[in-house]
Amino acid sequence: MTVKAILIDIDNTLLDFNASAEKAMRDGFAFYGLSCPENLFGVFKKINDGLWLKIEKGEMTRADLHKIRWNTVFGELGVKFDGEIFEKTFLGNLHDCAVPVVGAEDLLKYLSAKYPVYAASNAFYEQQVHRLSVSGLSPYITELFVSEKIGFSKPDARFFDKCFEKIPFSPAQSAMIGDSLSADIDGGKQYGLITCWYNPTGMRIAAPRADFIVNDLSEIKSIF
Ligand SMILES: [Mg+2]
Repeated sequence: MTVKAILIDIDNTLLDFNASAEKAMRDGFAFYGLSCPENLFGVFKKINDGLWLKIEKGEMTRADLHKIRWNTVFGELGVKFDGEIFEKTFLGNLHDCAVPVVGAEDLLKYLSAKYPVYAASNAFYEQQVHRLSVSGLSPYITELFVSEKIGFSKPDARFFDKCFEKIPFSPAQSAMIGDSLSADIDGGKQYGLITCWYNPTGMRIAAPRADFIVNDLSEIKSIF
């Protein structure tokens, strides 16, 4: 295995999206004087994950997500508030919330000393640039590939086509590290990349879909 370049996902791989998002929504509830349900984050996560899966499959657009995400969450929780208005407040709060995953900076320090490190993310471009900057991780990243700017989302091969217009190595010489089995691992594998699944919760899967599986980011240093 000769790895020359690293592609790494951002949300829930480098940045703790869950911790950042939970803070952003609780701040939003406080701002509008809404009482915050105990299970808020769990309900949001279930609905949000389902919507992003639809976007990955091309069944829905990101614009649709903005319209329906919080209305769906509020509907399920019985909160009487305009979800589209809350979405804007939530995104505004989220913009400045960027909590790194434990070990992320240490890992990037190690990887960037050996390889160019490319961030590859399904998200909004300006938001990811800002969040990487707020988190202090930007200096380790050679270039950011973000679906909104590219026009396609992982696992679509056209997302990776755009990345490899800029990466001066072949997919077989490159590794994709990420927490999403569908977007990062299946997407990377189908494109011919070496894959490393970050599985912090120790989720069990029937058949191994990644070349490497780690539960902690620090383990990646002994692979690449
Ligand atoms: Mg992710």
